[in-house]
Amino acid sequence: MKLDGKKIDDIARDYRVTKGSKFRLKDFDPGDTGSFKSDEHAQAALAKGVKLMSDLQKKLYAQDQWSLLLIFQAMDAAGKDGTISHVMSGINPQGCQVTSFKAPSSLELNHDFLWRSTVALPERGRIGIFNRSYYEEVLVVRVHPELIKAEKIPEPLVSKHIWEERFEDINAYERHLTRNGVVVRKFFLHVSKKEQKKRFLARLDDTSRNWKFSAADLKERAHWDDYQNAYEEMICNTASHHAPWYVVPADNKWFTHLVVATAIIETLDSLDLKFPKIIAEQRQALDEARKILEG
Ligand code: ATP
Ligand code: MG
Repeated sequence: MKLDGKKIDDIARDYRVTKGSKFRLKDFDPGDTGSFKSDEHAQAALAKGVKLMSDLQKKLYAQDQWSLLLIFQAMDAAGKDGTISHVMSGINPQGCQVTSFKAPSSLELNHDFLWRSTVALPERGRIGIFNRSYYEEVLVVRVHPELIKAEKIPEPLVSKHIWEERFEDINAYERHLTRNGVVVRKFFLHVSKKEQKKRFLARLDDTSRNWKFSAADLKERAHWDDYQNAYEEMICNTASHHAPWYVVPADNKWFTHLVVATAIIETLDSLDLKFPKIIAEQRQALDEARKILEG
């Protein structure tokens, strides 16, 4: 499939990680814009991409077999919300479910950490978007290990191997989903510390964006390096062919949107989706319906 004369996979491919063993975050530049030099050029390609995605989604929905799970993880102000709304702007809302995962409630803490995700998984034929996800369990919880206490896991089960065990469980979970027709794609919006500062300051300067600023975000910024290490470890340990990570440059929002959109289009296209075939019996029923309508 092509977009603006380019093979669609050429745009996102450089950012896809399917094998973690050699992955290093420092090899990925948050300011990268690939072969796109300007905002306008990328936005024109995105508009076409949104149309392609809308056509593919109609087939996904009609076929009602595969579902697509899109996971978004990032530091604050990396642009998760904007990416989700731009990229999904052409999608029929009936075929799409967005779930935002916040700090777990007491009900959620009374279950294993995958429970709340399982109930939010997309139905067949749908696209499910996780705005944050079970990956917080190896990110914020790893940076603030005292959060484990609130999870009420029996003490003998909390060892120094807990992160490796969580990676193992997440990998098994994604393998299970894949084997059942849930296609998993994961996006890490990779913003630089400098750009985050600029965006936080913009939230303070612009009264219409003041509500977006949270002192808690500033506190997490103080743990920047710990988070970067946790992200690197997470990608090293959970990237796979069937559930790849995309390390998406996030210092230029227009490029972020384009990379995410093309990754989704490429994924849907690879499923070879088709409208369900009408069999002879159904054709006859349709012909009869036409006769009745036409009197
Ligand atoms: P926005 O600020 O753009 O509205 P957000 O995703 O940052 O979106 P917030 O309500 O600001 O939403 O933050 C949600 C918080 O919940 C984050 O700090 C995140 O780390 C935290 N969180 C999510 N999942 C878990 C978890 N499993 N355990 C502990 N904290 C979690
Ligand atoms: Mg926030």
